[in-house]
Amino acid sequence: MPELPEVETVRRGLDRRVTGAVIRRVEIFRDSCVRLMPGGAAQFRDEVTDMTCLSVARRGKFLWIPLGNGPAEDAEVPEASLSAHLGMSGQFRIHSAEAMPEPHPHCRARLSLQSGAGDLTLDFLDQRTFGYLHAEELRQTEDGHPAGTGTLTPYLPQSVAHIARDALDPALNVAAVVAALGRGTRGIKQVLLDQTVMSGVGNIYADEALWRARVHPTRPAHTVSFRAATTVVESVQQVMADALKAGGTSFDSLYVNVNGESGYFARDLDAYGREHEPCSRCGASIRRERVSGRSTHWCPSCQRRYAPRRNSTAVRAKTPGM
Ligand SMILES: [Zn+2]
Repeated sequence: MPELPEVETVRRGLDRRVTGAVIRRVEIFRDSCVRLMPGGAAQFRDEVTDMTCLSVARRGKFLWIPLGNGPAEDAEVPEASLSAHLGMSGQFRIHSAEAMPEPHPHCRARLSLQSGAGDLTLDFLDQRTFGYLHAEELRQTEDGHPAGTGTLTPYLPQSVAHIARDALDPALNVAAVVAALGRGTRGIKQVLLDQTVMSGVGNIYADEALWRARVHPTRPAHTVSFRAATTVVESVQQVMADALKAGGTSFDSLYVNVNGESGYFARDLDAYGREHEPCSRCGASIRRERVSGRSTHWCPSCQRRYAPRRNSTAVRAKTPGM
């Protein structure tokens, strides 16, 4: 499943080719890819045809293209949003009009774009069909800052309004995230995966960031110090920045692809998927357990499990006869 760095790599690839282009023709090969449209494929076609792609934006794993009526000018107020989610297996592929192949068997939609740099087709492929395309209205962000990575305007699609800013968003309120990570009785990994606190942290990067920060995944949030919570947020940002660096290098400019199986990202992981292998920091054997239904990896030596101190006053007060 694509995680945030993969989705950001897709965003950058799309942005380079698609921004400024006008959508001239839309073919939908499977209606389920526009299942969020009440009027189905016809409504999707009506709402995006002849619109200009102003930029390509992202928040968490949600992508959207702000659409305008005139020439591309990202500073203007977009009229609508062409939103996309890659789900488990979604991909975009871009072809120049001269080298356009027949649609791939997994191609769910094909958009023909008119661009100053040459006409293009943008194919949306999705083998497992959890992804989607959507045309919708935008609304203003509550904090008035740009809505996400890749847009200068504070307008975000309705369907993304409930998603918090992500770790790579310059407008992320880090102090608020640090406070949330130190609050409540849930394990810190569960709080990291909570998309209403900070979005886009999936299972792999949660394990990696906690390993880097040396915090055990099940540690109750309220026992995590301010300093440790700060380190966790910084680790999330670093681990994603490192993955982006790795993913940005193998980019074919004519082929925007995201696919977990393709080895597109040479993931250099220290904890996730390394059960029984030696920790690259201390040599102890990495452990794996299911925590809240998610496969969770940690180093038992670098990331000590939380054990409440038995002689604390809180425990003593509850002991009968004292
Ligand atoms: Zn270790």
